[in-house]
Amino acid sequence: MIEIKSLTIEELRGELTAAGEKPFRAKQIFQWLHQPVTSFAEMTDLAKPLRAALAGRYLLTVPVAERRQVSAVDGTVKYLWRLHDGECVESVLMHYRHGNTVCVSTQVGCRMGCAFCASGVFGLRRNLSAGEILDQVLFMQKDSGAPVSNIVLMGTGEPLDNYDQVLKFIRIVSCPDGICIGQRHISLSTSGLADRIEALADERLQLTLSISLHAPDDESRSAMMPVNRRYPVARLLRACEYYFDQTGRRVSYEYAMARGVSDRPWQAERLVKLLRGRPGHVNLIPLNPVKESALQPSTRDSVRRFQQILERGGITATVRRRLGPDIDAACGQLRRRRLEEGESH
Ligand code: SAH
Ligand code: SF4
Repeated sequence: MIEIKSLTIEELRGELTAAGEKPFRAKQIFQWLHQPVTSFAEMTDLAKPLRAALAGRYLLTVPVAERRQVSAVDGTVKYLWRLHDGECVESVLMHYRHGNTVCVSTQVGCRMGCAFCASGVFGLRRNLSAGEILDQVLFMQKDSGAPVSNIVLMGTGEPLDNYDQVLKFIRIVSCPDGICIGQRHISLSTSGLADRIEALADERLQLTLSISLHAPDDESRSAMMPVNRRYPVARLLRACEYYFDQTGRRVSYEYAMARGVSDRPWQAERLVKLLRGRPGHVNLIPLNPVKESALQPSTRDSVRRFQQILERGGITATVRRRLGPDIDAACGQLRRRRLEEGESH
């Protein structure tokens, strides 16, 4: 069956007119899908035979919130969704002064194998469809009762390893007839698939690109992130430059600080050299320890020292506060715990 929420409005219009329906039905149905409804029967202004025909032809995905944890510290909500085939994904809703930001997953698991990440521990199970990525946004918005203003593709999965569905999701979620979240309010985080970054640049979207850099030298970066062996630092930064040239959007660099591995002063100096003159800024994040990995977070002092070296070198760097520290808001941890508890099918 075709997943109806993975269709753009143009595709839906094409499908409906081919089936003999009036083109304006597409907008009507598209809007219902984004409410979001949980069955075609709820689309009360459509004739019953049309609702039945839709139900016969299309799969309407409805994720079920299997777990919902609210941080007592900052109100961050973490969801574990069960999908139609029994797989599970996580998403997080964060409250900021300027509105709600949601962090969504793009794959069930991940095959990139970063040493510090809980999402990759069990490898990749499957890609999410555009509609399943969208569902996370729609159902968190519904649950919270307040509009989502920003989306970050920073949950489980490597978005550029699921390129076509992720791009479709971005087109659908930013469509004026749906929930219409502007591309400037969407950030895509990648471990650094340089050729896909260049392909994305050619799409000329207005997304914010966020690069998980984490180390400035190939030796340390390859030890933390196997993808670096395929696309070393210099190659990755060339792709970032191309992204800026094509889109005019500044790139942001995520930098997880691992004690004795990526937080040494010479690495801060190296980072200054690498990023000088490049439009963008650095987010320093103390590494979240995960039990599969020996990597430990940097001390507060070494984070501060690292930041000072960057700033003295003219690179803007912020230290990101951890959201939801009491609910394992770090990516992949909730799903992993569930798999370990043996609830998996
Ligand atoms: N696969 C993409 C997006 C999902 S991961 C990527 O890697 O960019 C989202 C962010 O969380 C990435 O910057 C990733 O490096 C970071 N991350 C994963 N595990 C972490 C951990 N244990 N501590 C700190 N950051 C982590
Ligand atoms: Fe995958 Fe990102 Fe985790 Fe690396 S950090 S394993 S790319 S989800």
